[in-house]
Amino acid sequence: MSRLPPTSASVYQRTLERGFPVLRFEPVLEVEYQRFHSRAQLQRVRWAGWLGFVIFAAFIGLDVATLPADVHRWTVPIRVLLIMPALLLAVVASHSRGWRTRMRLPIFIAALSTGLGTAAVIAVGLQRGHPLPYEGILLVAMAIYLLASPGWWGALAINLLTLAAVLGAELAWQADAQAGLYQVVFLLAANVVGASGGYFLEHGARSVFLVQRMLDERARHDGLTGLPNRGALDEHLARIWRQAVRERAVVALAMVDVDHFKRYNDRYGHAEGDAALQAVGAAVATQARRPLDLAARYGGEEFMLVWYRAAGVDPAELGEGVREAVEALALPHADSPRGHLTVSVGVAAAHAGPQGAVQALMEAADAALYAAKQQGRDRVAVQAAPSAAACTVG
Ligand code: GH3
Ligand code: MG
Ligand code: MG
Repeated sequence: MSRLPPTSASVYQRTLERGFPVLRFEPVLEVEYQRFHSRAQLQRVRWAGWLGFVIFAAFIGLDVATLPADVHRWTVPIRVLLIMPALLLAVVASHSRGWRTRMRLPIFIAALSTGLGTAAVIAVGLQRGHPLPYEGILLVAMAIYLLASPGWWGALAINLLTLAAVLGAELAWQADAQAGLYQVVFLLAANVVGASGGYFLEHGARSVFLVQRMLDERARHDGLTGLPNRGALDEHLARIWRQAVRERAVVALAMVDVDHFKRYNDRYGHAEGDAALQAVGAAVATQARRPLDLAARYGGEEFMLVWYRAAGVDPAELGEGVREAVEALALPHADSPRGHLTVSVGVAAAHAGPQGAVQALMEAADAALYAAKQQGRDRVAVQAAPSAAACTVG
């Protein structure tokens, strides 16, 4: 988790503000949205799939009961062999681990089979001189735009293909020109209505995604420094600790506390104090270099650093890097014995062991910080983690 610059908006907020009239995000964000959306719409896909399946099954009965044999000889196989398997496929995919996050394709296939299959049913009816009620194709268009929704562009493409197929069938076999004209105009109108509704639906779904990610991001970051907050730190620690236990890796922790910061506030004012904390936070963050390292604001004028796989590295050196990074800021502090802003750093490191040990490691880092303060501040102290076997670092 990276630092969130306090002044610049996140990619989610920027996208929300810039707008997305063509219903597409920039590539990386688009992939993230598709995964989010696929997972979010599983229930809807299952509902739409089963609903379509039952309705088409019912139509088989209706076809056999009401249509002449040379018509239902064709319409029934279209429903049974083309449409219903595609609907089932989408439902099955929604239950499969591998496909759950990539539902766009099975939904597209199901919607395309349903649209073109229904157009084929209409074509068969027209060709055999037994026109079927065209309300069915309107229903299918609406369902594709508003219920199944393989993405707005996908729904539009499928429906335009279906419209073209119906238009072709009407031109080829429709005996009643007026009826044919009405049917095509109705289908066109249904497309305009469905596409409009589908557009607003998808726009809303994309906005919800952006807002949710934005809130999530803010809840996990500190507003002043932009660093991950304590909650995010705890989550991160728990996660990497589990990984470190598996890999027998070393985790090092540093607790960092600004020296004489109350005096800094008293002399320069709270606003200057805030600016100093931002600068210190940025300096501390430079020491978390690897992907699983993390710098967080622990609270007040305290920061915490986590290093993963710190084996072979002297913990004191890690702490010294933090101390020097803050010293390099050279922020004047007239009421500090050093004349500039300094930090004390307590470091502890251990091979990841049984659960609960992470707490012991934090306590060790805290004790080390206390020792650094006791020894005169502006320094690094290292504390062995409580279980002796767990501390072979260096
Ligand atoms: P020590 O060297 O022993 O750590 O002394 P200290 O003065 O730094 O420690 P103390 O705990 O007495 O005071 C911490 C100060 O940090 C007091 C508090 O007002 C200030 N502080 C905490 N959070 C913020 C903040 O967000 N902004 C500002 N400006 N000050 C803060
Ligand atoms: Mg403190
Ligand atoms: Mg302090």
